[in-house]
Amino acid sequence: KFVRRPLIAGNWKMNMDHMQAIALVQKLAWTLDDAGHDYERVQVSVFPPFTDLRGVQTLVAGDKLGIDYGAQDLSDQDSGAYTGDISGQFLNKLGCSQVLIGHSERREIHGESDELLNSKIRAALRHSLAPMLCVGEGLEVRESGQHIEHTLAQLAEALKGLSAEELSELIVAYEPVWAIGTGKVAGPEDAQEMSAAIRAKLAELYSQEFADSIRILYGGSVKAKNVASILKGADVDGALVGGASLEAEEFANIVSFEK
Ligand code: PEP
Repeated sequence: KFVRRPLIAGNWKMNMDHMQAIALVQKLAWTLDDAGHDYERVQVSVFPPFTDLRGVQTLVAGDKLGIDYGAQDLSDQDSGAYTGDISGQFLNKLGCSQVLIGHSERREIHGESDELLNSKIRAALRHSLAPMLCVGEGLEVRESGQHIEHTLAQLAEALKGLSAEELSELIVAYEPVWAIGTGKVAGPEDAQEMSAAIRAKLAELYSQEFADSIRILYGGSVKAKNVASILKGADVDGALVGGASLEAEEFANIVSFEK
């Protein structure tokens, strides 16, 4: 079914110190090697905390592991008086290839606006980081039936003024907030419905060709036991996994979703 390379991504959130991070990536790489994983067929990436990135880089580069990695956030600025912020320039130098933008926890806890996220996408692109833009509705919006409208508005606002050429490496992650860390999984039909709506919106904003080239992931309580049914949707190209990415075997089993 896949015309786009499937991607299984692990968002570690604020878990794992730098020692634990190295152990987890090592174990994940061994487990995937044992299973004969082909990274060209299914891409694997992890999003550790900033303080783990150097350790992950050393391991991945030194042992030539096939795992890609990125950060969970970045500043929209490149350098200067922004105490506590991290520049895309630094992430690029640490070998990051992707960066999460607009995770619901950043939107909620830090009040990140669509306008700021647009600016963060621009910062990611300036430093050759593939932006993984997270969109999705909360429970109230879902119950009001406005979830598609809401999510597509987030998408359009975040991409405002950016061209298809600039966005060629864009990845979109649909994460219904009510399904994150709650054990409630959106049904495979819900994941497919929204992914198709996102793709149609990208076709409307840019072109069908562009829309067909962009990977759309589903995130929200994905586990080894439910991943296969979620990824059956024709427009669902992978998963963004939180809790279940902290355990190497469980995450490796998610990566091997076809088995
Ligand atoms: C996430 O926060 O990106 C996520 C999908 O979390 P979980 O898998 O734990 O629901």
